[in-house]
Amino acid sequence: MRHPYPVFYKITALLSFLIFLVLTPGAQSRGRTEQGRMPPEKHAAKVRLPRGYRPFPTRVKYFRGNGINVDLFAGEFAQGAAAYAEIYIDPSAENGSLQVHRLELEKKSVPVTKMEWGYRAVMAISPETAPGIKKLKVEYSIGGAVRKEEFSFQVQSGDFLFSRRALDLGNYSDVDYRLKPEELRFIEACTGKKKKVFGTKSPDRLRASFSHPRDAHHITSPFWAKRLIMRYRKNNGKKVRFPDKINVHKGIDLRGRAGDPVYAMAGGTVAIAEPMYYEGNFVVIDHGHRMFSLYMHLGKIAVKEGASVRAGDRIGSVGSTGLSTAPHLHVSLMIQDVYVDPMSILSLPLRD
Ligand SMILES: [Zn+2]
Repeated sequence: MRHPYPVFYKITALLSFLIFLVLTPGAQSRGRTEQGRMPPEKHAAKVRLPRGYRPFPTRVKYFRGNGINVDLFAGEFAQGAAAYAEIYIDPSAENGSLQVHRLELEKKSVPVTKMEWGYRAVMAISPETAPGIKKLKVEYSIGGAVRKEEFSFQVQSGDFLFSRRALDLGNYSDVDYRLKPEELRFIEACTGKKKKVFGTKSPDRLRASFSHPRDAHHITSPFWAKRLIMRYRKNNGKKVRFPDKINVHKGIDLRGRAGDPVYAMAGGTVAIAEPMYYEGNFVVIDHGHRMFSLYMHLGKIAVKEGASVRAGDRIGSVGSTGLSTAPHLHVSLMIQDVYVDPMSILSLPLRD
């Protein structure tokens, strides 16, 4: 539900932060492969979904370079979506050994993972990038000098919501409201832990499987929805308004009743499993290569820090802890410091 998420609050600048069906959206799109270069069965990431929910079908852009092929996948090539690249040697042109030295999306380096068949990479199309032509650059070699290729593709608008009705968040709208010293100390400790975790560079831990985080799909607040937060000073019971602040929702809210299950969206290691001030009972999974999924306001936490999880493992239950007014699940997905719509990974046909 509408939980207050006071991004306007200074300290949160650092916050920046069953019935399942097994479907294979990747396989469907592979059927559209122009030249049938890639057998679809190799490319079917298992995706566990609640009944009745389908992610966007996978789209693919095929790029051809000097001796290499790059296939770029996404549910939508749009602001705030995750994308997935496979880089591999063009068998009709070369038979050496491919080395990818650097991959860049819009001048930002993207970590790659060497696989038996080539290289793979998961990347974020920033919700803040302007719609239009984006550039993917690859630096590589095939047994000789370094080669460079640059590929272009179109990014659409994410069509994010902007609610102009200002929300009164009580204490958090009151410019004179001050947290207690122990609250400030707690927030500081939480901030320190998050900073450490989100700065961790661990190896790629993704497997070719993803899961919806719930057993039912109902979004109560969409990704990157912007809304206005009231600010005022109370003067003899009257609210004297200050300019509103814009709040950006850096994840999605999913409906749920207290106690409903919450699942890991992808494989990884539990990096945070503890209560925090804003997030309440908070679980963060490190998927490697600086990709993290975040699960907030949990009723119960069912995993321990350091544990390995697979996609679809139960990590806790829906609750209303932290800065939340009613039970719901807030999920965020951060890829190399950029928030994307967490549902967008369900369209990626990841390959092991
Ligand atoms: Zn939320």
